[in-house]
Amino acid sequence: MANPVLVVGAGPTGMTAAIELRRAGFDVRIIDKSDHLAEHSQALVIQARTLEQFQRYGMAAETVAQGRRLDGAKFYSDGKEILHFTLDKVASRYPFALFIPQSKTETLLNAKMESLGAKTEREVELTALVQETDAVSAALRHADGSLEEIRPRWVIGCDGAHSAVRELSGIPFEGGGVGLSFFLGDLEVEGPDVPKNELTIHVRHGDLVFMGRLSDRWVRLIVVLHDRQDQDKQDHDNQNAEQPRELTLQDFQSAVERVGVRVTVLGSAWMTPFHVRDMQAKHYRMGSVFLAGDASHIHSPVGGQGMNTGIQDVANLVWKMAAVARGAGDGLLNSYEEERGEVGKALLRFTERGLKMATLSNPILESLRDTFAPLKPPSTIDLRRSSTNSAATGNCAPATACRISRCKEPTRRSLSTGLLPGT
Ligand SMILES: Cc1cc2nc3c(=O)[nH]c(=O)nc-3n(C[C@H](O)[C@H](O)[C@H](O)COP(=O)(O)OP(=O)(O)OC[C@H]3O[C@@H](n4cnc5c(N)ncnc54)[C@H](O)[C@@H]3O)c2cc1C
Repeated sequence: MANPVLVVGAGPTGMTAAIELRRAGFDVRIIDKSDHLAEHSQALVIQARTLEQFQRYGMAAETVAQGRRLDGAKFYSDGKEILHFTLDKVASRYPFALFIPQSKTETLLNAKMESLGAKTEREVELTALVQETDAVSAALRHADGSLEEIRPRWVIGCDGAHSAVRELSGIPFEGGGVGLSFFLGDLEVEGPDVPKNELTIHVRHGDLVFMGRLSDRWVRLIVVLHDRQDQDKQDHDNQNAEQPRELTLQDFQSAVERVGVRVTVLGSAWMTPFHVRDMQAKHYRMGSVFLAGDASHIHSPVGGQGMNTGIQDVANLVWKMAAVARGAGDGLLNSYEEERGEVGKALLRFTERGLKMATLSNPILESLRDTFAPLKPPSTIDLRRSSTNSAATGNCAPATACRISRCKEPTRRSLSTGLLPGT
């Protein structure tokens, strides 16, 4: 194929895009302004649907081997268990969620991508983008300061929340802060409430502590404290996000005690504040430019869907590119925005509601939640369709007709799932 496809950003979304593109026979250039892969755990959960996608790449078994199975979740309000669900009914070869640090996921994706002949060009930054009739003109700045101009057929912006591709294309990013700030740590903890193979979510009067076991030693803790919101928001608005206040183990210890969780915090591998915004790109396509992953949607970690959604975005996009390269009408590519835009919207709605429910501070509403939550346990939801409706994953082959717009797999609109806060 004449001009390569340019993938901007080599996070999980970009590397998956490169894998899909190579599998479809495209020449690919994938660039990243950073000189390294993710170093921390960040997005921690891989959902069943993503594992099915990895199975197509022949990397599911190794991914599962490097992670830790998560069999379910328990939800406590003021120390009382109000909800317990397991994942063993998920209609998938992978009836569980997988806990695996993003750094490991990225290493696995990178190895797969390189085995298919695509290698990230590091310390290369996209600095300009101009749409032309059948291509795009892009300027890349290399580490030595030199500029290169290229004309890829398509550009996929997988360059994260502050996407240059999105900004250079003039695509608005709509939404805003949710007025909640989290702090997050991979910690060594002990005590009777330390989780085993299930997530535990403890809430009390608007405060929330989420815990999930990463390994024999480390546990992911995510904390939201109600009365810290104003201060944290102020910090964020002051741009202190670039130099966030140093967290201490005592911050976590005080938080768990306040929520009544019986654990002692002993040490940390990584601690960071985490500012939550619910935002979505107004368009996922602008001519020959496409957005995917965090470049097109960011939201709270409720549901463990951020990274999964990005990975599934590009599966939807690339088979359509392949079909168009083989002669299908260019209009097929519009269905990417229609389908994945819908998924993104529903995802934001879902995570926003989940977070609101978990952080209720009005005693009457808390009591209603605690009474009614057990009546509709998430085990009744098809968790396999995480971050997606089925057609929108792109796992439908081009030949199968799809009822959403031009892509025709029977559409199941229910978004999902998740309910795996903080992952
Ligand atoms: C501190 C932290 C904690 C998190 N915790 C969680 C969590 O608990 N659960 C969860 O689900 N998610 C979490 N996330 C979010 C999760 O990491 C993202 O959803 C995921 O990384 C999105 O992948 P992506 O590939 O779309 O974007 P990213 O991983 O952001 O990758 C974008 C890449 O683009 C590159 N780039 C940017 N601009 C340019 C440019 N102009 N030219 C070239 N390259 C460029 C960047 O260097 C980067 O490598 C966390 C994120 C952070 C930062």
